[in-house]
Amino acid sequence: MDNCIVCKSKCLDIFLKVDDLTYWKCKFCEAKFLDKKNYISYNEEKKHYLKHNNSLSDQGYRDFLQCLIKPLKDKISNNDFGLDYGCGYAPALADIFKKDGFNIDVYDPFFFPNQNIFLKKFKFIACSEVVEHLFKPYEEFIKIDNLMDLNAWFGVMTSFMTEDFLFKNWHYRRDPTHVVFYKKKTFKVIASQRRWKVLFPSKNIALFNKIDLS
Ligand SMILES: [Zn+2]
Repeated sequence: MDNCIVCKSKCLDIFLKVDDLTYWKCKFCEAKFLDKKNYISYNEEKKHYLKHNNSLSDQGYRDFLQCLIKPLKDKISNNDFGLDYGCGYAPALADIFKKDGFNIDVYDPFFFPNQNIFLKKFKFIACSEVVEHLFKPYEEFIKIDNLMDLNAWFGVMTSFMTEDFLFKNWHYRRDPTHVVFYKKKTFKVIASQRRWKVLFPSKNIALFNKIDLS
């Protein structure tokens, strides 16, 4: 691959070859990502999401989502309009926000491909367990930037990479739909390439704020 799929840097090396899979590393943003020749097909990917998606009533999953919902709620107010981006077929995160009195749209390329959202601006956007699935994160983060109102908050939950040597045996890597892995440094680069600040309020959470220069 010629460019980092997260930051577009050309400073790439092969990171790991395992079970016929090739992973690249970016020396600039420290992202690791699967070679595109190893991507699974659209239909396989959709089947995987249907098998693994969590139901709306799963209390354990709803508790897990609070890790992302809590820090976002600290930053927004009740009349703010939000978006659950990559919500899957059972949008539990949006359901919790709605029950808490927030207005929130849902979008998912497989299950809720509602193109109207791209005509709107949102005060908050949540991506729970989404960014590790992105084939084109650089372009997706531009799309998200365009969906963000000035001063908007964008919360990401994904398992952050820790030490490189743990990668090979990491359960998160073995999910065939997980194609890109992030470190704190990666999120700092993502913010620096846009008009965003980034905070890390808790484990596996990155919280971006679009800076209002007006
Ligand atoms: Zn990079």
